[in-house]
Amino acid sequence: MLLVGTGNPHKLEEISSVLSDLSIRTVGIEHLPPCEEVEETGETFEENALLKAAYFSRMAAGLATPERPRWVIADDSGLCVDALGGAPGVYSARFAGEDCTFADNNRKLLKALEDVEPEKRTARFVCVICCVPVPDDPRDAPPALFYSEGICAGRIALEEAGEGGFGYDPVFVEETTGQTFAELEAERKNRLSHRGLALLDFRCRFEALSAS
Ligand code: IMP
Repeated sequence: MLLVGTGNPHKLEEISSVLSDLSIRTVGIEHLPPCEEVEETGETFEENALLKAAYFSRMAAGLATPERPRWVIADDSGLCVDALGGAPGVYSARFAGEDCTFADNNRKLLKALEDVEPEKRTARFVCVICCVPVPDDPRDAPPALFYSEGICAGRIALEEAGEGGFGYDPVFVEETTGQTFAELEAERKNRLSHRGLALLDFRCRFEALSAS
């Protein structure tokens, strides 16, 4: 059994849809006792993905054996904008402040790029997935078994477009389609996105790991 450690329903949907044909049973954090929100104190996507995966894995270690997953994955992702020196990066979720909404973040981003010409509005979404084992003892910190990274290139639109997705989707124009993530069908976004690409790499490595 593989536990997907995310409290974000949009991410869970995307991850579950890409992993739906794995031969291993996949469960979400509703499988665990009530969890706290993990503080993302890392300075890199890798550090934050490991922090989240390790927390959920130690929670899973407390479950009775038949209900205990063998592995846990968690991801950390964000938007890196060249004209802002790579910001908001690991701070993407709270770019406009601690309790901000997706709309606040998009407004702040468009404002910050107000005077930046279209060809200088290049950006990329990055996603890092960390896979850890579930330790026998919840006091043990599990090591990272491996990381999978996905990067999706694009640029920041002049204004929001599209209704789908979440977060920065209405302002991120994906490079190969020329459409914002919010304008693409969910299935198309999942195939092109940073998370979709990281999941493809994860699938390959995980299939090898779970078969050994
Ligand atoms: P975290 O990975 O849960 O820490 O969240 C990263 C933040 O990056 C999210 O809250 C969104 O603002 C943004 N983000 C990550 N992936 C996507 C995506 O696929 N579309 C839009 N925004 C995203």
